[in-house]
Amino acid sequence: MLEILIDHLKCGVTVLDKSQTIIRVNSAFSSLFNKNNNDLEGTILADWFTGFFDKKASERWDRMVTEAEQNIQSPDGQFKVKSDQGIRLLEAHVVVIDESTRQGDAFLIAYWRDITEIEALKSELTDLKFMAESAGAELTETNTILTQAYQEAEAANKAKSEFLANMSHEIRTPMNGVLGMIEMLLETDLNMEQTDYADSVRSSAESLLVLINDILDFSKIEAGKLDLESIDFNLRVTLEELNDVMALKAYEKGIDYDCLIRKEVPTLLKGDPARLRQVLTNLTGNAVKFVERGEVAIHVDLVSESENKVELLFEIIDTGIGIPAEKIERLFKSFSQVDTSTTRKYGGTGLGLKISKQLTELMGGKISVESEMGKGSTFRFSACFEKRITSGADLEEIPQNIQKERILIVDDNLTSRKVLAEHLNSWGCDFETAESSPDALDKLAQAVAQEKPFRIAIISMLMIDASGEELGNRIKQNPRLSRTALVMVTTIGQRGDAVRLKNAGFSAFLIRPLKKSLLFDCLRTVIGAIDPGDGDAPPDLITRFTLQDQKPETVTPTVKLNILLAEDNPMNQKVAMKMLQKLGHDVSVADDGQEALDMFLHESFDLILMDGNMPNLDGLEATRRIREIEARQKPGPGDLPARIPIIALTANAMKGDRERFLAAGMDEFLTKPFKKKDLVEVLEPFGPRLPV
Ligand code: ADP
Repeated sequence: MLEILIDHLKCGVTVLDKSQTIIRVNSAFSSLFNKNNNDLEGTILADWFTGFFDKKASERWDRMVTEAEQNIQSPDGQFKVKSDQGIRLLEAHVVVIDESTRQGDAFLIAYWRDITEIEALKSELTDLKFMAESAGAELTETNTILTQAYQEAEAANKAKSEFLANMSHEIRTPMNGVLGMIEMLLETDLNMEQTDYADSVRSSAESLLVLINDILDFSKIEAGKLDLESIDFNLRVTLEELNDVMALKAYEKGIDYDCLIRKEVPTLLKGDPARLRQVLTNLTGNAVKFVERGEVAIHVDLVSESENKVELLFEIIDTGIGIPAEKIERLFKSFSQVDTSTTRKYGGTGLGLKISKQLTELMGGKISVESEMGKGSTFRFSACFEKRITSGADLEEIPQNIQKERILIVDDNLTSRKVLAEHLNSWGCDFETAESSPDALDKLAQAVAQEKPFRIAIISMLMIDASGEELGNRIKQNPRLSRTALVMVTTIGQRGDAVRLKNAGFSAFLIRPLKKSLLFDCLRTVIGAIDPGDGDAPPDLITRFTLQDQKPETVTPTVKLNILLAEDNPMNQKVAMKMLQKLGHDVSVADDGQEALDMFLHESFDLILMDGNMPNLDGLEATRRIREIEARQKPGPGDLPARIPIIALTANAMKGDRERFLAAGMDEFLTKPFKKKDLVEVLEPFGPRLPV
């Protein structure tokens, strides 16, 4: 049994006498050498080991045997074997046979385990462990670097914001000087050449300002420093202001321009009209820029409406050069232009769309574009607004006297027809449309035949088949149609148009894009002229000027104010002072906050214009002190504490600035650079309330 057991053990077994002669061996051991057991039996063990040739190995063996003799627990040792399977590493475990059980020469038993593979694995593992450890160390190092980089980035970001605030201030201050002085220069007597030069300076300075604002906006948004306002506004007015500017640009390029707000779109809203206008200006400006022939149109649609919120969709459609499909994705990334040659041809920084995208998102909407090369592009963006709770006075009244009026729209441009139709529809007019002159003549004649003649024809000046003027002539020369009142609509007027049109029998002449209110006034006046009432005779040819003349003028009483201007920059002192003097006010100047405070204490002023950043005492602190002094003073008439209006003049335009100024006790806020018109507007509310 033992023999069998030994022979089938997986580990090698050798029984040795004291002189290391092998007395008995098992096959697990002899197979290492590709031998039979009896080949090994009788030989010296050391002869089979390469390791025993080296001194250290025999020392190790001897030590093991001695330890075994002394009964020290499991003496082990490793030995290299030159076997037929190459060099193998064996681990030996030696047991000295107890004297009482010893038989014959048998002295000790050695057990052998082949650990070649295990050791190889072990060393591989050690290598791996080492590698893992060094990777870990590297990772820790990377982490440290990253943390450091993060901290640096944070600091850089903060520095960037501060830099931005400073830059904003530093750039606006001289810009205020440039724009202000040019505005005043242009008001002096200049010859034509000088006017031309000064005008060029102004327009360059204005473009520079747009650019600066773009860059500042971009950085402000990036730094999370841009907040939207929430104020009441009228969408129609916002768009009409945009149209005034864009229509002129479109006209200069000889392209059509129109704007359509669908009837169901609520126009009395609450939101940030300036930012909305910025997005619209940017997209529409691009559209006009990239269209050589055709038209640009803005459509405004209702997406959804709840009790107090609306989501609107704005579409800016152009028939321009289009954008290649593969470039579209990049468009809304900063500084991206479709190709650099467009920059050379059309100018631009590639910032506009990125800013538009960010502003749209701030307004709770999305922006996208669809485009076909050579055909044109449509930019769409949505935006959410609050609805204003409308009082009766705000609601658009449906005018009684043009309801049910028979009106024919003649225009070959679909968008323009739609715009007019939309307006007439909202007033409840009974209208039809014609796409061409012959079509118009047919419809006019048919209506007469059906005894439902059109009272007014609104005719577009530029049509492909015939000019609106020719059509007008033919209508007026046809006795059956000549009673139709004619309203001419054109993109922009030229000198001499009015006289010619009047002679041709037109009643009115309007310039596109039509302001809804102006169109309404015009139609009402034209009808008034057909049915003269008791009132005055209508003007000869109705134009936007005569219509505006008819309106009661909004009179702002001219109040002469005694103004204290606190401003440290000499150039800006001069700008503000000259502007105020031109507006008829008296101005005293303080060079810093301390001087302003002293002057406030010793003289009597109606109003203070206070720069924010000033040496010695800044505008905020000076204001705080003035308010403290006022609070200590006895109440004035009507038991109200006296309170001098203080308007901040500042070149800072960062988030939170307005709040800071108001918190310090200022009443209003004017950002540099400002124009005379801005100054008038900001002073206006304070004028009439003050004693003259
Ligand atoms: P830029 O100031 O250069 O106009 P934008 O961000 O507004 O910057 O526009 C980026 C680029 O997108 C433009 O340079 C132009 O290549 C392309 N693009 C924008 N709008 C239009 C459009 N309506 N038609 C064709 N290309 C357009």
